Amino acid sequence: MATDTTQQSLSDWDNRHFLHPWEGMEDLGKNSRTFITGGQGIYVTTTDGQRLIDGPGGMWCVQLGYGNAEIAEAIAQQAKELGYFSPFSNTSPVSARLAHELARRAPGDLNHVFFTTGGSTAVDTALRFIHFRNNLLDKPRKKVVITRRKAYHGSTYLSASVSDTERTRVWFDQDHENVCFLPDVNPVRRRAGVSVEAFLNEKVADLENAILTLGADRVAAFIAEPILASGGVIVPPEGYHKRCLEVCRRHDVLYISDEVVTGFGRLGHWFASEPEFDIVPDIIICAKGLTCGYVPMGACIISDRLIADISGDKSKGAVFSGGFTYSGHPVAAAAALKTIEIFERDGILEHVRNVTPLFAERLATLGKLPIVNSTRGKGLVGCVECGDNSLAIDQKVGAQIDRRCQELGLILRPIVNMCVFSPPLIITADEINKMFDILERGIRIASDDLMRQGLKIA
Ligand code: PLP
Repeated sequence: MATDTTQQSLSDWDNRHFLHPWEGMEDLGKNSRTFITGGQGIYVTTTDGQRLIDGPGGMWCVQLGYGNAEIAEAIAQQAKELGYFSPFSNTSPVSARLAHELARRAPGDLNHVFFTTGGSTAVDTALRFIHFRNNLLDKPRKKVVITRRKAYHGSTYLSASVSDTERTRVWFDQDHENVCFLPDVNPVRRRAGVSVEAFLNEKVADLENAILTLGADRVAAFIAEPILASGGVIVPPEGYHKRCLEVCRRHDVLYISDEVVTGFGRLGHWFASEPEFDIVPDIIICAKGLTCGYVPMGACIISDRLIADISGDKSKGAVFSGGFTYSGHPVAAAAALKTIEIFERDGILEHVRNVTPLFAERLATLGKLPIVNSTRGKGLVGCVECGDNSLAIDQKVGAQIDRRCQELGLILRPIVNMCVFSPPLIITADEINKMFDILERGIRIASDDLMRQGLKIA
């Protein structure tokens, strides 16, 4: 095994051998990625000795921050006690307990938990479960899944097929035979002169019209993130999800709420669907914050009603033949149980609700900067959108702000002309102020740079 770990060798190995997610192929082998070597609280440290606030909380997932000794201890203890069991034939105490704890916290009758390896595989499982269910109910034609432009539901073939990120659409094949996309629900993009209320009516009508056009006998489900996260933190108009659920109920279409980002405290609740959006969906997907990102795990939480329709005598001997070697992995389950315990003991959900107004106020203030077109967010997730994305230079804005902020001590997540952030939920009021102070300075410096390069301000 190679033991030479000088920075130069690590960079070479990273460039030559580590093919990263969303790799830009033009720069393959020429990257100088920041090496993160450690972390404590909301900060990560780099090989250059920099200490940076982790604005995106890893990938929207490190809810309790870095260096949490209790989670690390729970993981180590479980690995020593039982590092694996086969979920195909046995079960384990931690996995059964976790399923019970999730069912207790999920809304309504969502009481059946199918564990997966992450968000994409949980979305895949939900869609395959719905197809399986409709086959059993003798509705083999009812297979279409309605999704939305700008949605991101994952990176497996099926979850990517119901996603609409521009780069995936351009460079990958997707299977759209049983998929229907609704137009963008971003109220910021509504046509001039259209009120938010009229826009809302239009968006709800888009769903109903799609179902009527395809035929309710063909439409199986509607899948939606409560807030479209990777699509640019798009918060649909108030009442949107509730009215969409009513449409689904009218036409016997199931509602899948993808809470991979909004679940586990991001909006101040275990799951945001009911308390924030007034819906009890048929299926909830969660991942990321479930284990604080320390180990991989996802979950597809299914309602009693859906299961009751196709189980027992009604099952005709059917087997739900989907599952993963690591479904309900005991080490991941131990991390999730410890996460839940700490959330409750330390009042993390209440804390998020308490600091959200400060976060929202500081976010709104950024909207006054000349380069910023719009700011939006909810709970502890925010987005700053700059330029109008119509010029090549606009597309560099996110990366430029990210670079400047990183020099000043803050990591962001640039998405074309936007920067999104979703810090660890343990962030204090002082740290929120510090994060936004840096962000504001970074945006000002980046906008000066970009204006010198020809960026025009509307
Ligand atoms: N669903 C949503 C809303 C997401 O944001 C993501 C990832 O960012 C996924 C699903 C996919 O999750 P994973 O990357 O764990 O497969």
